[in-house]
Amino acid sequence: MFPRESQPGTAYNSGVNESESTADTIAAISTASGRGGIGIVRLSGPQATEIAVPLVRLRGPLEHARARLADVLDPDDESERIDEAVVTFFAAPNSYTAEDLVEIAAHGSPVVLDLLLRRALALGARLAEPGEFTQRAFLSGRLDLTQAEAVRDLIEAQTLAQARLAASQMGGALSRRVTPSKHALLELIALLEAGIDFAEDDLAVAPQTEILRRIDELRPPLAALEATFAHGRILRDGLTMAIVGRPNAGKSSLFNALVERERAIVTAIPGTTRDTVSERIALGGIPLELVDTAGLRGAAETSDEVERLGILRSREALADAAIVLIVLDAAQIGPAGDLHEDERSLVEAVKDRAALIAVNKCDLAANVPDLPAGTEIPLIATSAVTDQGVSELRAAILQLATGGAAAEPGMLTSLRHHRAIAQVIAGLDDARTAVANAIPHEMILLDLYRSLWALDSLTGQTTPDDILNLIFSTFCIGK
Ligand code: GDP
Repeated sequence: MFPRESQPGTAYNSGVNESESTADTIAAISTASGRGGIGIVRLSGPQATEIAVPLVRLRGPLEHARARLADVLDPDDESERIDEAVVTFFAAPNSYTAEDLVEIAAHGSPVVLDLLLRRALALGARLAEPGEFTQRAFLSGRLDLTQAEAVRDLIEAQTLAQARLAASQMGGALSRRVTPSKHALLELIALLEAGIDFAEDDLAVAPQTEILRRIDELRPPLAALEATFAHGRILRDGLTMAIVGRPNAGKSSLFNALVERERAIVTAIPGTTRDTVSERIALGGIPLELVDTAGLRGAAETSDEVERLGILRSREALADAAIVLIVLDAAQIGPAGDLHEDERSLVEAVKDRAALIAVNKCDLAANVPDLPAGTEIPLIATSAVTDQGVSELRAAILQLATGGAAAEPGMLTSLRHHRAIAQVIAGLDDARTAVANAIPHEMILLDLYRSLWALDSLTGQTTPDDILNLIFSTFCIGK
C-alpha cells in the first residue's frame, strides 16, 4: 500500500509539532532542468517530513542526516515501482535552511521529478521562489547576506579561482574582515552618545582630538577593502579583450593560440575574419572574453558590404573592450620601424587605455616598431606559428587585468558590497569634516549612524526587504 495522508510518518522525530514557525513548506526540483544521472526534489519547512513521507515508499524511518532507500510508485498502479530514490532528512535547526529539510534523490528523469514535485504540491507544499531555500537560511540567521550571495556566486563560478573566492566568502571571509571596523565604529558612536547624555554635567567625555583619532583609525582598513574591488570585480565578472590590427597580421592565429583551439578561421587571404568571433578563456582564474575582430583597415578601402559591416563591428568591439591587443606583422614593419598609417592611428587611439602590442610573426622577422612619442604600450614579440612569446603575452594580459594584485580573502567582488563600503567611508569623511568644524555631536552621530547602517546592509542586518527580494530573485529555483 502506498502510504497516504492517512499514514503520516511517525517513526521520525522532526520537531514539526514543537516548531513555532509559521512558515509554509516549500518544494522545488533543485537539480538543473533536463535529464541527468540523478535529480533532486527538495522540501523545506515545518511540514517537510509530513509531505515527503507519503511521496515515496520508504524502506526505513527518516532519521537526521541519514540517507534512506525508497521506492517511487506509479501513481496509476501503486503496486508498481517506477523509480528508486534516496531520501535524506535534516532536522531543524541542523539543515541548510535551519528548518526541517528533505531531499529526495531519484534518477534524473524530468517525468519522475515532476511527478514527485506535483505530489508534494498536492500535499500542501508551495513551489519555492528562486533562491528561497537560501533566503530561509539567511532569514534564520544561519548565513549572513554576503554568505548567501556567495552561494549564488559559487553556483555561477566559471573558473576555479571564482569558485575559491565564492567559497571563502561563503565561509564568512568578508563579514570577518569588516567586523573589527564595526566594533570600532560602535565604540565611537557609544563615546559620542555618552558625551551627549552627560553634556549638561559639563563632562567633556569625547575631546575632538580623540574623535578624530578614532575616525582616522577606522578609515584605512575600509579604504583598503574598497580598493580590492578593482581586482575583485574582474575576478568575478571577467573582462573583454579586443584583438585588432591590419588584415593578415595574425589576429585569428594569435586568438587561436590563446584559446588553444581552432575556433577562428585562419586563411592566408586578407579579410577572412569578417565578423567578430569571441571566446571565453580563463587566464589566471579570470574569465577573459577574447574578441577577434575583422581587420581594421579603413571601411572605405573595401567595396564588400559584408566586410564593411565587419569593420564597423570591430570598431564597436574596440570601443567596448577593457583591454586592446594590437597585432602587428613583424615582416611588414619597415626597417626604420615605420608602421602602416592605420596602425599608427590605432596605437594613437589606444595609448591611454589598457593595451598591448603583439609584434607577431617574429619567426619571420625581428623588426621593432617605432611607436609615436609618449606611448608606453608594452611590446611582446610573438609567433602564432611557433608559439614563441605566447606565454609572455598571457602574462602581460594578466598583469594588465589585475594590476599585478593577487586575490585576497574577503575582497569585494560585487557592486552592492562596493557601494556599501563606499557609503561607510563617505559617512566617516563627513563625520570627520563635521568634527573639524566643531559641529555638535548630534550631527556627527548622524554621519556615523549612516556609516553603521551601510556596514550592516552589507551583511543584511539593515537591508530593506525589497532589496533582499531582488538579491534572492537572481538565484536559481531550488537553491
Ligand atoms: P588575421 O587576418 O590578422 O586574422 O591573420 P590570420 O591569423 O588569418 O593569419 C594570416 C596568415 O598569417 C595565415 O596564413 C597565418 O598562418 C599566418 N600567420 C599568422 N601568425 C603567424 C606567425 O606568427 N608566423 C608566421 N610565419 N605566419 C603567421
